[in-house]
Amino acid sequence: MNSQSGPDRRSVTKWLAAGCALAAGAALAACTAPSAAAGRPGRTTATAGSAPPAPSGGAPRVGTPVGGAATATGAATETTEGTEGTEGTVNPAADSGPTAANTPAARPAGLTPSSDSPVHALKRQFSLTDPNSPWVLVNKHHPLHPAKYEPADLVSATVPAGSGGGAALLRAEAANALARMVAAAATAGAGITVLSSYRSYGTQVSLYNGYVAGTGVADADTKSARPGYSEHQTGLAFDIGDSGGACAFDPCFADQPAAAWAAANAHGYGFLIRYQLGRARVTGYLAEPWHLRYVGVELAADLVARRFTTFEEYLGLPAAPDYA
Ligand SMILES: [Zn+2]
Repeated sequence: MNSQSGPDRRSVTKWLAAGCALAAGAALAACTAPSAAAGRPGRTTATAGSAPPAPSGGAPRVGTPVGGAATATGAATETTEGTEGTEGTVNPAADSGPTAANTPAARPAGLTPSSDSPVHALKRQFSLTDPNSPWVLVNKHHPLHPAKYEPADLVSATVPAGSGGGAALLRAEAANALARMVAAAATAGAGITVLSSYRSYGTQVSLYNGYVAGTGVADADTKSARPGYSEHQTGLAFDIGDSGGACAFDPCFADQPAAAWAAANAHGYGFLIRYQLGRARVTGYLAEPWHLRYVGVELAADLVARRFTTFEEYLGLPAAPDYA
């Protein structure tokens, strides 16, 4: 799945800024690592992998803002440059559950939301550093620990496959939420497909190295997450497409029915549109209206209700525009 041809490098550059990091020529498959059915453990609908259509030109656009403009300080143009901040300290947050896979030799220093973050008002609190936590923060300042973390409860979500093949592997809770969301979208007339889901550390190594070999580290970092820094490795993130097949991994996806529906409703199922337009200074990634991250309904709904557009800002944590 790492040797398929894909869009030309310029195109790749456009659609894959972030979480989706693909390697030119090699990576598409990974980002579009097809997913198919799931929601129920054991059910897998395999499909053949294929690269998404070559993106067309055009400036990045975004669909209906999930959170409004209150915090969209952003810039008219996307950039991976931005402000740096200080890290939080102490970690009173409770763990979310099993931590078998979370016994790193070098556990990161505690990370906790700022004291004025609205997250403290939520009924349940989860760790921002435990990779098994639905709130685990993964960005260019906060890699997963351990770096080679593997979710223990990956299942195939019961959803239509995208242009690629394979199962939409996600952690069980996220997979079930995804299945419910896709069903609701379909009822509303929006066809959502899943183009890429869980990616292992090893897969990310292949993708990232492919970019580095092609254009060097600096350029690679604008297109692909370094191994251990991808939300896809959490089993809580995935990339969606429109059943019509248009604009996969392209900025114009924001105008497709699936993207518009997701932007307006995904939070109701526990998902954030993680990388919104104009927020690269905070998230470190260009707009990806197709990249959704599960955090649970309570947090997602509150974040949107309060008109935040980034997970980092909602938590009151420093921006992570680039690798520290
Ligand atoms: Zn993604």
